[in-house]
Amino acid sequence: MIKVENLRVHFGEAGQRIVAVDDVSLSVKAGECYGLVGESGSGKSTILRAIAGLVDHWSGLIEIDGRPVGRKRDRDFYRLVQMVFQDPFGSLHPKHTIDRILSEPLAIHGLDDAENRVRHALEQVQLGPSFRFRYPHQLSGGQRQRIAIARALILSPRLMLLDEPTSALDVSIQAEILNLLADIRREFGVTYLLVSHDLGVIAHMCDRFAVMRQGKLVEVAANTDLNSGRLKEPYSRQLLLASKGYDRAVVDAFADI
Ligand code: ADP
Ligand code: MG
Repeated sequence: MIKVENLRVHFGEAGQRIVAVDDVSLSVKAGECYGLVGESGSGKSTILRAIAGLVDHWSGLIEIDGRPVGRKRDRDFYRLVQMVFQDPFGSLHPKHTIDRILSEPLAIHGLDDAENRVRHALEQVQLGPSFRFRYPHQLSGGQRQRIAIARALILSPRLMLLDEPTSALDVSIQAEILNLLADIRREFGVTYLLVSHDLGVIAHMCDRFAVMRQGKLVEVAANTDLNSGRLKEPYSRQLLLASKGYDRAVVDAFADI
């Protein structure tokens, strides 16, 4: 579903150039949940944004569903690929009703039967039809993120790029949203590329994952490698230890790598 080869992304002009993604290659199979994990600033979001066509300066190869993407993504691309962001508040227009927020992608893509599609999208994220006439500020954080997921799902994409979809939510709500995303994948066979700084989240959701550090891909591992402690790279093992809770020894060991 995704093939990325030698992806490089930089920001800023020569002299103060930041290489955000440094020669990253990865591939994601159809139907898979593939994780990108790493500390803040390691380049995870930039990889998703490059795939989604939201960054200007990149080089390398990005293929989606067997086809290389160009500089500009066309409308068909967004039928195939949808993104969900971390901040469910910032990503929903505050002055639009939920009905309008969910109808907009349908209008852009010329899909009819908005009435039924909106109702169905709400059902998919387990919200009743009455939510159509509310505004984002009238919803909880978890409900807002459900709307952001419904807005992505309403176009029946085959690939969802999920950037820290639960990081802004309370812990109890995080689990609900992760379980919802897992159910959706099981039911519709959507492929996920899921970014999280939390290896616990990745372990719960993903078949395979890549560990990122300072723009570079450190290691690709399978979920089963976590359980049996088979991570190869010391940095990945530290990330695993850190995900098990705050521990002074872990923090000190981080400084040594
Ligand atoms: P992550 O998602 O892993 O936290 P990002 O992909 O957001 O990391 O950022 C990677 C690096 O690129 C960081 O050093 C960040 O400061 C930088 N960066 C990201 N977006 C921009 C931007 N629009 N302009 C300048 N620098 C950016
Ligand atoms: Mg990020």
